[in-house]
Amino acid sequence: MYVQLPFDELKVDPSRKKRVAYFYDRDVGNYFYGTGHCMKPHRIRMTHSLIMNYELYKKMEIYRAKPATNEELTQFHTDEYIDFIDRVTPDNLSMFEREQIIFNVGDDCPVFDGLAEFCKISCGGSMEGAARMNNGSCDVAINYAGGLHHAKKSEASGFCYTNDIVLGIIELLRVHPRVLYIDTDVHHGDGVEEAFYTNDRVMTCSFHKFGEFFPGTGNLNDIGIGKGKYHAVNVPLRDGIDDASYKSIFEPIISKIIEWYQPSAIVLQCGGDSLSGDRLGPFNLSMRGHANCVSYVKSFGIPMMVVGGGGYTIRNVARTWAFETGLLNDVILPKELPYNGYFEYYAPLYELDVRSSNMNNANSPEYLDKILTSVITNLDHTKHAPSVQMHDVPYDMEDWGDVYEDEQDSRDTKGGSMYARDKIIQPDNEFYDDEDKDYGERNIDVTNGNSNSNGNSNGGGVVLTDTEMKEIELLNKVAV
Ligand SMILES: [Zn+2]
Repeated sequence: MYVQLPFDELKVDPSRKKRVAYFYDRDVGNYFYGTGHCMKPHRIRMTHSLIMNYELYKKMEIYRAKPATNEELTQFHTDEYIDFIDRVTPDNLSMFEREQIIFNVGDDCPVFDGLAEFCKISCGGSMEGAARMNNGSCDVAINYAGGLHHAKKSEASGFCYTNDIVLGIIELLRVHPRVLYIDTDVHHGDGVEEAFYTNDRVMTCSFHKFGEFFPGTGNLNDIGIGKGKYHAVNVPLRDGIDDASYKSIFEPIISKIIEWYQPSAIVLQCGGDSLSGDRLGPFNLSMRGHANCVSYVKSFGIPMMVVGGGGYTIRNVARTWAFETGLLNDVILPKELPYNGYFEYYAPLYELDVRSSNMNNANSPEYLDKILTSVITNLDHTKHAPSVQMHDVPYDMEDWGDVYEDEQDSRDTKGGSMYARDKIIQPDNEFYDDEDKDYGERNIDVTNGNSNSNGNSNGGGVVLTDTEMKEIELLNKVAV
């Protein structure tokens, strides 16, 4: 069944350009996990600098999301955990000895200055991205500050504290009957899988290194339980997987899932630690091999959210995410890097490229065939039988009332409204890549409205089963 596909040049079709909403908060690059820590939020700023200097702001709308509130974070996390994250600082850490152990903060997940703000920026981007997809104001949402897939309900894990992906998917479930989550990080997407392990409205599919590798979960036989049985897909891979092998396992699995499960929204986690030469990851994907996943998922034309994730050789992460942002805007970015604020990071070639190495690929065609056969057999059980009955997607006017009230309130906050800043975009002709300069932002009138808890206009005529309809209604009732 496994057929090794040739790795062809990536192509774009500008005639099929989608509306892209890109979320970036200029504060995000300032957070610092600590000296020697692999996770560097600075890479998000480097990515942004490349994106801007490649002039992709001409192709997409750029937003600064309203940071998530504690209340919003508790749509997934426990009150106790969020209260801890919100209050703990490096200075008062000694007051929280018990909590540090319970909530697993320490070496991998240190308490650093601004931790809560960092979490709220990360989650705010994914939640607003989802809200914009829900209200139909974009086809593609991008949040590279998100993708923190290891965070659990009441526990930090693997450099992740709050799970923006789970929160974004919960938002999507207000409108979308079925959501597909795809994870291309080198590590298993355990936090997202766990959150929806008993749920058939979210299918999770993770491609990851398996075997003596963090977090240790994600075996081929882990397929979900209860209602969620057959709705978790795990693709455990060995060291050194290359572009052609990855494409040849990724594409048939994703096409089968989409064909059979019929998701109406997709979240794609683009962890950059599956790239060749990553400081932590043992895979051997080139920039194009990694970007092929983005290109392939986009080709289905289903509303999608793209989030970041791991990635520890930061110059390569920035290159790849910039290139992928190009693809999402139907542009193949030229190889020669534009001058940008972090140009010296890209020495000595100053090229937009991450190459594969000559490392051994421990994934034989026989091994990949075994995985593919198993996954396809399991997927056979998920074949979606749409109800003959059509429902309108619920639309709660009261939610919209709250949005406008929130907006009024937020205008009074010190230093300008974070919510109002979501209405800010970069003008086409006034970009300077200097962190200290005002980018010449201007306010635009966004009439779509948006918040993290609303936006129920779905023009697509999605087919819902009675059960899905009830679940969506319930979710909207309990919504904040
Ligand atoms: Zn990772």
